[in-house]
Amino acid sequence: MGLLEELYQEIILKHYRNPRNHGELPGARLRVLGHNPACGDRVELQLQTDGERITEVRFLGQGCAISQASASLMTELVKGKTWAEALELERKFKAMVVEGAAPAPELGDLAALAGVHRLPARVKCATLAWNALEQAAREARAS
Ligand code: ZN
Repeated sequence: MGLLEELYQEIILKHYRNPRNHGELPGARLRVLGHNPACGDRVELQLQTDGERITEVRFLGQGCAISQASASLMTELVKGKTWAEALELERKFKAMVVEGAAPAPELGDLAALAGVHRLPARVKCATLAWNALEQAAREARAS
């Protein structure tokens, strides 16, 4: 395993063992449940918004390290962003894990999940929380 892979592995395990923004968000305006039956991963996103801006985001979940680390990293990144900014980050994240694009600098530590592109069975683990975010954006804009 190369140095970069070791570093990436460390970031994933750090977020899996000690996830950021984990727990209930009292009075959350939006709640979206994501489920990946292929792996048994679950992520429930809870969000608070002010107009177009995501002011608070937390998640509850269980599942593999990739799914939970991706959720943890995603919440860190999208908190304080507008929906448009968050969905642009989602597009860049999916370009990386689905299409194998080079990690965009804005993705920060999410670059640790770039290797998922070579593990097609795990792509749904990595994108679970992001799909839930996209669903939340749809619900926010419909209400
Ligand atoms: Zn998984």
